[in-house]
Amino acid sequence: RSITVDLGERSYPILIGSGLLQGIGERCREAGLPLRSPLLVVSDSEVAPRYLGVVEASLRGQGYTVASHVIPSGEASKSLAVYEEVITTAIQAGLDRSSAVLALGGGVVGDLAGYVAATYMRGIGFVQIPTTILAHDSSVGGKVAVNHPLAKNMIGAFYQPSMVLYDLDTLRTLPPREVSSGLAEVVKHGLILDKEFAYWCREHASELLALDAEALGYALERGCAIKARVVGTDERENGLRAILNLGHTIGHAIEAVGGYGVFLHGEAISIGMAGSALLAAKLGRDHSIYEDTVSMLSALSLPVRLPAAYSEDELMEAMMHDKKFKEGKMTFIVPDSIGAVSIVNDVQQSDVREVIAQ
Ligand code: NAD
Ligand code: ZN
Repeated sequence: RSITVDLGERSYPILIGSGLLQGIGERCREAGLPLRSPLLVVSDSEVAPRYLGVVEASLRGQGYTVASHVIPSGEASKSLAVYEEVITTAIQAGLDRSSAVLALGGGVVGDLAGYVAATYMRGIGFVQIPTTILAHDSSVGGKVAVNHPLAKNMIGAFYQPSMVLYDLDTLRTLPPREVSSGLAEVVKHGLILDKEFAYWCREHASELLALDAEALGYALERGCAIKARVVGTDERENGLRAILNLGHTIGHAIEAVGGYGVFLHGEAISIGMAGSALLAAKLGRDHSIYEDTVSMLSALSLPVRLPAAYSEDELMEAMMHDKKFKEGKMTFIVPDSIGAVSIVNDVQQSDVREVIAQ
């Protein structure tokens, strides 16, 4: 399977399939990465022991000089301190303007390695090798970043990879909660723009959870394609791209109040998407949107309700700190039906409060 992300004058391929890791060397040759320039593979402490050896062997087999840098697994590695360490490795390994950084891992590795690629010598090659389902989201859109202690993703750039190689075999070692969390973003793409795909996800939920290669390949392809369609029309996030934030206003508040790590990102936005559907019902949309949304998310073993321990006040406070709050009114992405959403700018805080109280 393959899709092309088309951004006007630039485009890049996303290849999705089994056994791709072994062929990475050849793909880099085909993509024109010169043998005389060293490559740097960035990975993390969970992924590297499993897959880094195969990737290095494939690259060396084609004649490349390869360096690697393994970061500790987890969000804390998306920092300026770790960024500097990776840059140090890049300099020591002699990376030049024709070199490339290969990101072997989930969204954390992708965002960090992408920011290295975007800034090392003002920008070198960038290849993504995602190993989580959630990373299908970060493989389209070109957002790369590290965190500042005061705010997530505060230091970053828009920087497109030259290709994305999605080896489905690597997903087999993902912990089950990470599988469901990643699928939350997949089904989100259906909920915002593709009714048929959203219901397909519910119908094939057990195959998706079991990581059936056929079902998962299709789901990732379709998820990437929908995101590519949105991003292609709005690369710099001026308008349409906001619909990708379905469930994220409430989801980010849950992450902030609970402390990062209590809920995985996909779990938090699952609760957020269920909340948006409930808000839709309050704003007069059909109640079946909420029921269908909940059944889709539940089928993927995702939470749809906040644990009682969460304080409404704290969540409201967290949402007001969010950028989507202006002059007493809140902006929400609200479903109009399954597969269609509106950006509503004048949502009453009282309605939001009722939704999170439920
Ligand atoms: P992650 O990279 O931390 O991976 C999740 C966990 O799974 C980690 O512990 C990791 O070590 C482990 N792991 C990864 N692949 C594995 C495998 N194949 N087998 C076993 N374990 C594996 O997190 P994520 O969920 O992939 O991504 C979250 C990050 O992505 C966040 O930092 C978020 O900001 C970012 N993100 C960026 C974009 C974007 O557009 N750039 C979009 C969505 C998310
Ligand atoms: Zn998200």
